[in-house]
Amino acid sequence: MSLHKHHPRSDADIVDSAFDGGVGTIPKHRLPRGSQDADAAMRFIQDELMLDGNARQNLATFVTTWMEPQATTLIRASLEKNIIDKDEYPQSAEIERRCVNILADLWNAPTPTGGADAVGCSTTGSSEAAMLAGMALKWRWRARREAAGLDAGKPNLVMGANVQVCWEKFARYWDVEARLVPLDGATHLTAAQAAAACDENTIGVVAVLGSTFDGSYEPVAEIAAALDALQADTGLDVPVHVDAASGGFIAPFLDRELKWDFRLDRVRSINASGHKYGLVYPGVGWVLWRSEADLPKDLIFSVDYLGGSMPTFALNFSRPAAQVIAQYYTLVRYGFEGFRSIQQHSRDIARTIADGVGRLGPFTLLSHGEELPVLAFSLTKPDGYTVYDLSHELRSYGWIVPAYPMPEGMADVDVLRVVVRNGFTFDLAAMFLADLAKSVDRLSGAAQARVAFHH
Ligand SMILES: *Cc1c(COP(=O)(O)O)cnc(C)c1O
Repeated sequence: MSLHKHHPRSDADIVDSAFDGGVGTIPKHRLPRGSQDADAAMRFIQDELMLDGNARQNLATFVTTWMEPQATTLIRASLEKNIIDKDEYPQSAEIERRCVNILADLWNAPTPTGGADAVGCSTTGSSEAAMLAGMALKWRWRARREAAGLDAGKPNLVMGANVQVCWEKFARYWDVEARLVPLDGATHLTAAQAAAACDENTIGVVAVLGSTFDGSYEPVAEIAAALDALQADTGLDVPVHVDAASGGFIAPFLDRELKWDFRLDRVRSINASGHKYGLVYPGVGWVLWRSEADLPKDLIFSVDYLGGSMPTFALNFSRPAAQVIAQYYTLVRYGFEGFRSIQQHSRDIARTIADGVGRLGPFTLLSHGEELPVLAFSLTKPDGYTVYDLSHELRSYGWIVPAYPMPEGMADVDVLRVVVRNGFTFDLAAMFLADLAKSVDRLSGAAQARVAFHH
């Protein structure tokens, strides 16, 4: 069974080449009988890929769509390396270790061994990181319950209804109740809600640094404090995992004063997507634990490494090393100041777009690009068209801007979301605002014409 049944745009089951000297026709869903000329096959596939969207005008994705050519050179040079072959590629293993230590330092992990022995690993992205962190929470909770002679049959994980889908996946795949707290008065989880949802079966609370719905930071320190108070009252000791998929590469550079990381005792683990604001092409994420005690030993497997063995924790066995190497490139290349200035630039552009959107008139901003460089906005009152119409209209100018309802508790609010990433410019922002203004004019003009016609 193919899991991918995406509205075929053509029913033909053969594809033909657009050029002379191409591959002729080949079947779409069966292996061609003969082989093709390599250049012709490449050109043929290139030609199809041109139909994919244009990354520069894609304001929907958080994922990196541009890297420097030097990074691409490094990626190309390491495409054949498998990250699990620590023995064959010890220097790639060393580079992964350095990245983990650098992130541990950025996220203020306690460093009993002088910073070289942080506990963490690379992953395919934040989704795999969430599976690993979630398992560690579940294993630790179960060990505590069993040690106390208590039932360990009904674990739950507390999180806002605004969590990214990877957490619902974790809960379903690992048989944990996803205790999704509906939004109430904020666009994300609040401290009081988090503490109120916990009980003796809670394996942890997920706090999101940078909600995917509107880019707002959840109040991690307040959530931790509310859980401290819960412990003082009831004895329940509930750990916090911070899903910093995006914020893990923003807050350390732009919000130094904000305490969201291992400076908070209750924060036991953190994940981030290297391929979002870590500025690397898709395929890399990170997960770190506060200390070895937070990562149960029986989740760890050993692989050969330089005649000895090395502990690993991952869902996959084989995975490309290239993305990890590219991550190291961004860390070495930009350094703290470089990251700070790139992320500040994105934030400044997001704020400028937010101001422009506010000035247009019909919109209410849910976020202004002040936290993640992201803004979400809704139509303040009905005017004969929807944000879905606007998203569609913006497509005609080439802009990809998603529209969707907010999660449970705010599901009657539909928003458009703009994500600003490295590679976006003030110039493109001005074009986007002009096209948004034209789209609004056209849709409200058409709506008024319809009203006039009916009267
Ligand atoms: C993107 C995102 C994820 C999933 O991350 P991937 O790296 O795409 O697997 C999880 N949580 C949040 C908050 C995200 O923004």
